[in-house]
Amino acid sequence: MPGRRSGGSSDPDGGPVDPTYNLFMTSPALDPLRLNVAHFAADAQDAAGDWAVAELPRLADSECPPDAGAPLKGAVGADAPKLPGRAARDTARRVRWHAVGSLRKLGGEDQVWLHLQADADVVLQCQRCLLPLAESVHVDRHFRFVADEDAAAALDDEIEDEVLVLARSLNLRDLVEDEMLLALPLVPRHEVCPEAVAMQFGDVEAVEEKANPFASLAILRKDKSGDGGPDIA
Ligand SMILES: [Zn+2]
Repeated sequence: MPGRRSGGSSDPDGGPVDPTYNLFMTSPALDPLRLNVAHFAADAQDAAGDWAVAELPRLADSECPPDAGAPLKGAVGADAPKLPGRAARDTARRVRWHAVGSLRKLGGEDQVWLHLQADADVVLQCQRCLLPLAESVHVDRHFRFVADEDAAAALDDEIEDEVLVLARSLNLRDLVEDEMLLALPLVPRHEVCPEAVAMQFGDVEAVEEKANPFASLAILRKDKSGDGGPDIA
């Protein structure tokens, strides 16, 4: 759509780049679970960190159950596939994130923006053979924050970036989790399943209905009539 991003929007990351700035040295007051986005953007702040996959319960629930595949391999018993690092309390696998705030000046107006990147290696369940499937999930999104729902609704059709309502504080972990869930494949499948035999055990049609339950989030996100958007505490 021509003109959509008119006005010469500034560099997405905005602000001057100081090569000596330590990405991991954030203000002691900076709490990613209660991020003051307005200040974060105004100060062109930059923060990074990581959480265990287990700390993102909806993401953890989207993973393959640790006993997956066992029923298919009843005859083999002890050979049931085991996943590395999938102990009951798995904190080894991390969701790494990086957030950069910026103000974009446009038509005398300071727009509040947040650039969010996140990566994680998750273990999904192949919906064809039901065995574990390793998947690298990557999130790279730009969010524009606006004053209220009306402004968000008005902008939503205009720009491709996410539009969120600016609240006093933002739970960055919830936002990272939302975006991670949206980035998961709708129907995870091995390119080539490790065991062709698995096919005869499952009703493939029924299995496919278990597609990523968070897929609907993508649709809800676009519907700003409700309270819309990810959780903002
Ligand atoms: Zn498979």
